[in-house]
Amino acid sequence: MKQCLLKNANIIDGTGKPAFKGHILVKGMRIESILKDNDLPSSVDKVIDVSGNTVSPGFIDMHSHLDWVMPHADHAELTKCFLEQGVTTVVAGNCGASPAPYRKHLGEEWAKLFLFPGCRKFYTSWESMGEFLDYLSQAKPSLNIAQLVGHATVHHIASDKRQKKLSSRQMKTSLLEVQKAFDEGACGLSLGLGYDPGIFMSLKEIEAFCRLASNAGKPVAVHLKAYSILSPAYSPTYLKSHNLRALNEMINIARKTGVKLQISHLLFVGLRSWRTVDSFLEIIDSAKKEGIDIMFDAFPYTYFNTTVNVVLPSWFLARLPKAYKNPLLFLRLYTELLVGFSLVGFNFKDFQLIHDATTSNTHEGKRISEIAKELNLSPLRTMLEISRKSKGCASILFHGANGEPGNEKVLDQILSHSLCLFETDALIYKKEYHNPAALGTFPKILGKYVRDKKLFSAENAIKRMTSLSAERFGLKDRGKIIPGAFADIVIWNPHTIAEQPPTDIKPAAQPKGIKHVFVNGEQVVCNGVSLMNKQVGQVLRI
Ligand SMILES: [Zn+2]
Ligand SMILES: [Zn+2]
Repeated sequence: MKQCLLKNANIIDGTGKPAFKGHILVKGMRIESILKDNDLPSSVDKVIDVSGNTVSPGFIDMHSHLDWVMPHADHAELTKCFLEQGVTTVVAGNCGASPAPYRKHLGEEWAKLFLFPGCRKFYTSWESMGEFLDYLSQAKPSLNIAQLVGHATVHHIASDKRQKKLSSRQMKTSLLEVQKAFDEGACGLSLGLGYDPGIFMSLKEIEAFCRLASNAGKPVAVHLKAYSILSPAYSPTYLKSHNLRALNEMINIARKTGVKLQISHLLFVGLRSWRTVDSFLEIIDSAKKEGIDIMFDAFPYTYFNTTVNVVLPSWFLARLPKAYKNPLLFLRLYTELLVGFSLVGFNFKDFQLIHDATTSNTHEGKRISEIAKELNLSPLRTMLEISRKSKGCASILFHGANGEPGNEKVLDQILSHSLCLFETDALIYKKEYHNPAALGTFPKILGKYVRDKKLFSAENAIKRMTSLSAERFGLKDRGKIIPGAFADIVIWNPHTIAEQPPTDIKPAAQPKGIKHVFVNGEQVVCNGVSLMNKQVGQVLRI
């Protein structure tokens, strides 16, 4: 078995204990031992002197949608930005949508029902979760992937009506599908309660799914019904903060079912939602104190990627495509959005087009307000045109979540919390403008928040990027630099590590300070650059 020695390492091992000096011997896919100076072996196949660098476990992206990318033949090219920022494992299948289980009668177009594929055609040769995971293994993933089963996915198998409540027979089918996916290796369940069909789920239905997960000992990752004080998920006559209600509903269900609750991508969307951060975190803290198994995850940005249709109310979506051309519906939409935007606190400047899902690409990277000026249309009309041309598949970065440039107190508070794990939630597409999170999330945390702002220690950050995330989803022997663990390793320079953020004219670039990355004992990034011929990730069946 091949041996590689990482000499003169400053080791942050992922457990939270203080950094220490040592030499790491990797044998085959695993870490063989951590050696002191006088234990060094006389000969090994390869020695890398890592003096001056920190060696830590590979980062785990807790909330990923790469399961929609991995089945594509060119996935290694698309995912190399994740490896180049030190991510060695992703937990995919989030926000209620997973590519499995699938049934042939759904047809190839079904993937478009979900928000994530960027409308690239998706050929499915699998039906069950087990077959999907086999398919991914054979496709040689570029990094390790653990897979959640999505509620929206099983809903589509049980019912062809998206917005309709499931009958008790359909409900039984859905639950059986989730159980089967668990049995075949899914590491948990995801709920997308802000999107159709999750938005229509009753509390009783959510509870039934959570009870099943709890009995199976698997976590539930939930995209909440609301991340702002006002949302389409609840009636506008509900005058308290919608996001707090959404959180309390899930905590009540966790209290009843005992499920491990993972709140996905914690966000406070819109200026007027920011002030709810203290109450929100207090609710989480007291639930934790009460014994509820709750954690959350977040990314270090004041924007997030979503679809162009995200602000369109369900009555308008239900009337598409005719509604695009109907002046009366336009007027109603305009009035509603005007009121809604000002109550929540955002406007059309906060929407940045990153992927137009057509062949033109001319406006990618620009704000909707800017595109509107160029096209000489109103901002709303511009957004509807982008929606119409892309059939709702265009993606945007939604700014004004958790703060804004120069005012990031809310974001700092989220990232510093001990129950916060780290993630990208980044959608990626072919060649176009990416969400900067796909390139810079982990280097940004270690550079900006650990080194520059000193919000928390490197040991604390690494623990929340690695071992805690692995434990959350039951990823065995991952997330620690200890003998016997899989050799998923990142070697990085604590003085230079940083993201390279986007500017007005340029998208984000490859981060600085990531030197080498190993996945399962194989070097996949050398001097910051991905070695494209290596696809040595594993599918982690739990
Ligand atoms: Zn989500
Ligand atoms: Zn997501």
